[in-house]
This record gives sequence, C-alpha cells and structure tokens, in this order.
Amino acid sequence: MFKAFLIKYAEIGVKGKNRYLFEEALAGQIKYALKKCEGEFQVRRTQGRIYVDALTEFDFEETVTHLQRVFGISGICPVVYVEDEGFEKLCRDVNDYIAEVYPDKNKTFKVQARRARKNYPKDSMTINADVGEAVLAAYPSMHVDVHKPDILLNIEVREKIYIYSETIPGPGGMPVGTGGKAMLLLSGGIDSPVAGYMIAKRGVKIDAVYFNAPPYTSERAKQKVIDLAKIVSRYAGPVYLHIINFTDIQLYIYEKCPHEELTIIMRRYMMRIAERIAQETECLGLITGESIGQVASQTMHSLAATNEVCTLPVYRPLIGFDKQEIVQVSEKIGTYETSILPYEDCCTIFVAKHPVTKPNVSIIRRHEENLAEKIDELVENALKTDELLIVSDD
Ligand code: ATP
Ligand code: MG
Repeated sequence: MFKAFLIKYAEIGVKGKNRYLFEEALAGQIKYALKKCEGEFQVRRTQGRIYVDALTEFDFEETVTHLQRVFGISGICPVVYVEDEGFEKLCRDVNDYIAEVYPDKNKTFKVQARRARKNYPKDSMTINADVGEAVLAAYPSMHVDVHKPDILLNIEVREKIYIYSETIPGPGGMPVGTGGKAMLLLSGGIDSPVAGYMIAKRGVKIDAVYFNAPPYTSERAKQKVIDLAKIVSRYAGPVYLHIINFTDIQLYIYEKCPHEELTIIMRRYMMRIAERIAQETECLGLITGESIGQVASQTMHSLAATNEVCTLPVYRPLIGFDKQEIVQVSEKIGTYETSILPYEDCCTIFVAKHPVTKPNVSIIRRHEENLAEKIDELVENALKTDELLIVSDD
C-alpha cells in the first residue's frame, strides 16, 4: 500500500549553504543505499523535504533496512499517495488508510494537514476539523487528543495528497561526505570497525589501512578485514582499503628492541605509516578502536607513547567505552560475527608475555634508535607494498 517514504532529518546546525550540501549529500547516500534494493526508486528534494518514491514494486522491509543505514536520517515515514478526487473521496481514503494501518481502533488521534497547494478549496485548519469528523464518524472507538495523540495523521495536499502517520527511527548522525575524510586503522578485531562506524556517523568519509604480516598472518585474516570493511561500507559508502605488508618491520623490531616494548613500538610504526598514507590521500585525521585500559598498549601512558609520533589528530571514538558496550554496537551494526572469527592478526603473534603498561616515552625513543640502520628503508618498502582495494557491499 505504501508508495513512498518521507525522509526526516535533524536540521539543527545546517543552515544556509550548509543545508543545501547536507541535503545533497543525504540524497546521494540514499540513492547509494537503495541501489542494493529490489525495485526502482526516485529520490526527490522539494521544499526542504526529501521523498523516496517507489517507481516499481518493492520489498518494504528490505527498503526500510537499507534506509536505516543512511546517516543523517532521523526518521522514515511510509507514505500513501492518493489522487485529489474531491474532499469526500479524501475522507474515504483516510479511513481506508486507518483501517489498514491500525487494526486496533482503540486509539486517540489528531489530524495535521498541510496545504502545500494553495488553490485547494479548504485551508489546513478546515481539513483538520473535517477529516477529524469523518474519522470519528467511521470509527466510534477513536477519540481526538490534540496534545498527545497515539496517531498523528499527516495529510499533505500537493499535486497528489500524501497520507502518513508512522515514523520508523533512522540512525541519526550526518550524511557521509559532509565532514571530510579520515583514515581508519582497521584490524580484524571487534573495536576498529565500530570506531569507523562511529566516525562515519558524524558525516566523515572513511578510508582504511590494514597491516598484514604474511606468513605470520593468514590469507583468511586478510579476507576477514576485507569482509569487515564491506560491512562498514554499508553505512559509510565504498571504503578505500590499503593493505600494507608489515612483516619486515615487525621482524626488525623483534630483533632489535626489548620484547616488552614490542607492541608499543610496533603501534608507533603503524601510526607513522598510516599518517603517511593519510596525508597522501587528503585524510584529515586517523581513527583507531582504542579504549583506555583495555589492554597494556591502551593505558594512558601507552596511548601517550603511541600518539606522540602523529601530527594529524587521532580520533578514538571508543575511548570511554567498556568492552561490553563496544560489543553491543558491533552486534547492532553486524560486524560482531565476523570480528570473532579466530584468525590471528599480526599483533597476536609478536606479543610479549609481560608488555609494559607504563612505557616511558624517552626510553621508547632511545630503543627505537636501535632501528636506525634500516628502518627508514623498511618503511619506504612497506609503503610500496600498498595494495589498494575499493571495498563495497554490492
Ligand atoms: P581491535 O578489536 O580493533 O583489533 P584491539 O582491542 O585488538 O582492537 P589492539 O590490537 O591494541 O586492540 O589495537 C588497537 C587499535 O590499533 C585497533 O583498534 C586498530 O585501530 C589498530 N590496529 C591494531 N592492529 C592493526 C592492524 N593489524 N592493522 C591496522 N590497524 C590495527
Ligand atoms: Mg586487534
């Protein structure tokens, strides 16, 4: 019965020129999301509103699921269109609508009309009153409540007349592409895909980098990261995923540095390389899945040591989350099942039994001097291994 969706979005903070960019980006992201749905759709922007019209048959559930992944949407209202064939016919159409959508008629309601076409013979106040009366006549168990109605019955008079009353919640946030771009350090774990999702939700486009350590990490571990990027792309749009061979750097650190500092030094090189790629690809920041105290390399001291090598801002959206809270988000967005597949990432191979939890930055720097002979060359070589995949969920 529904032929269209009215897309609601939070307008706060998007005024003037920004509003236009916001709407344009939102319409673009909606089109991208709907490409994967059965049926043909048209996305229309008129008078500060966005409508999705179905041009063919479509699967309602599937379409709603895909729209619920578009950041910037606060609500999705399924709409019924009727032709304007006189006011009496409109009243019958509204009553048919109620019959279909609300099997239980023990409800309060309020009519909220909008006359966008000014030559319609009744003004909105009159439509409210007269449609209300017709509903009361048809369904004696229904009552008007103008303050807190169960059903807010919207009637918009345009070329056609639109009827809607239900709002399905959207994901909120800002349309991807309105907030610049950042580089996500994406591992195969639970945290980093969630971190990418959260920054994308604020409108930021996501590129990603994965540090691979063959043969210590398997082809399956790499595929797992690609699969995670694919799931993130359902929300964030196509993800440019850089895969860097990190093995030689890791082995060299293992050979030259104290083992309890391995993870920290390794993470410092990951950050340095990620930053190099970020700068070449116009990313404005780095994103990681770190949260304070989760593991030895994520204490305040360790984060300070890792952060020290970066000049770009490092965004850590999970910084104050407990693991359980992160797991909840990963289940919601659909990355959890993939994240828990047991393929080791490069970090688990080279972990020390007793990693430092309070690294001293000047000591770390001194130990990094042990790498002076070859490390610059190894970093350049690692950058040359960059394998770029454009990952999307088509
Ligand atoms: P995750 O679940 O995201 O893997 P984690 O709890 O395992 O996180 P660490 O392994 O200490 O934590 O990694 C911290 C962060 O460093 C990750 O969230 C991710 O952003 C980044 N990172 C770790 N390993 C890699 C890797 N192999 N490639 C790219 N980024 C990585
Ligand atoms: Mg990890």
